Amino acid sequence: MNLKTLGPNTICTHVGEVEDKQFKGAISPLYMASSYAYEEVEVKRYPRYFNTPNQEALCKKIARLEKCEDALIFGSGMAAISTTMLAFLHKGDHVVLPQTLYGGTYNFVVEEFDKFGIEYSFAKGFSEGEFSEMIQPNTKVIFVETPSNPLMRVTDLKIISKLAKEHGIISMIDNTFASPINQTPADFGIDIMIHSATKYMGGHSDICAGAVAASENHVKTIWNLAKNLGGNLSDYTVWLLERSMKTMAIRVKAQNKNAKKLAKWLQKHPLVEKVYYPGLKTHPEHELAKKQMRGFSGMLSFELSDSLDVKSFLNALKMIKPSMSLAGVESTILSPAKTSHALLSPQERKNQNISDGLLRFSVGIEDVEDIMTDLDQAFKTISKLHEYEN
Ligand SMILES: *Cc1c(COP(=O)(O)O)cnc(C)c1O
Repeated sequence: MNLKTLGPNTICTHVGEVEDKQFKGAISPLYMASSYAYEEVEVKRYPRYFNTPNQEALCKKIARLEKCEDALIFGSGMAAISTTMLAFLHKGDHVVLPQTLYGGTYNFVVEEFDKFGIEYSFAKGFSEGEFSEMIQPNTKVIFVETPSNPLMRVTDLKIISKLAKEHGIISMIDNTFASPINQTPADFGIDIMIHSATKYMGGHSDICAGAVAASENHVKTIWNLAKNLGGNLSDYTVWLLERSMKTMAIRVKAQNKNAKKLAKWLQKHPLVEKVYYPGLKTHPEHELAKKQMRGFSGMLSFELSDSLDVKSFLNALKMIKPSMSLAGVESTILSPAKTSHALLSPQERKNQNISDGLLRFSVGIEDVEDIMTDLDQAFKTISKLHEYEN
């Protein structure tokens, strides 16, 4: 077997697994120890040193999927994002980020960075010029999120890595929405890949975790801060995450397929104003998405027609669950204005084009006809309510 050319399904299933030498079980055993020998051992292991056997196993899998030398796993996506940013940004440094950003990351930046004396600027759009005009002499990091949450805008990773290299700064991406199955930013020269593993990596809405993948040197820098901040994940959850990731490639491919069909179907629906999905020809960065993504992901957003009530629509759904978070095997839907972006002011939401009628849809692996049937009956219910009110 050529171990260098393994496909994503094989990497998901096998890479990193811990051999069970004692009983020859087929999967990695779970090591819950928080105490390991310190004499006559190669590595002094401790959960908060991010080096227990299960953490190492999962890190190998994630690093391989992201085509990186090394990885670390954290207790949440925000632990991964905050630790990674703070590892490279010191007092007096500056970071460039996109205006449309995951709500938690935005809050982290605007609520915490002043305390650390870190400066930040938000690029107004997604073009090369809009990012480059924000770069200053003290810029140390450029951070992107593509596709973005919730409007699925796509940033050109080649351009971002070119800008970063020209200015000697580090490029980071929140690769959560694409997952490593649909997008490997290292192919385009991005330095550091960050994930909320709560999403596609976990995939069953039962794990909260984060991950970062990069070169050995960069991971070492992140680790130096990570061991001090202590945001490691419990080994039981690490082990569960390894189990979940075995099916990530097949789950994500099924979600891509369902989402593409639903995006096309919603686009034709008379009660839908607009659909945001990189797989649609009408998407502003469709051509770019085709170049840098292998699949367009299971996430899409759509706007209900002006006059329709979001709450009644969500209440009318029978199978699709209105709930927070995303990327589980079950379809879920939410109003960004009421959830992920609720802490932003109405003006900040307006700046990011997040309207009250916007719905973010995380497409599951159910049969696509059943998802359509559910949406359709909900549309029929609210259009009846609407006629009645008029
Ligand atoms: C959920 C999410 C995060 C934060 O992850 P947690 O696991 O909730 O801390 C960061 N970025 C994106 C794009 C997300 O969807």
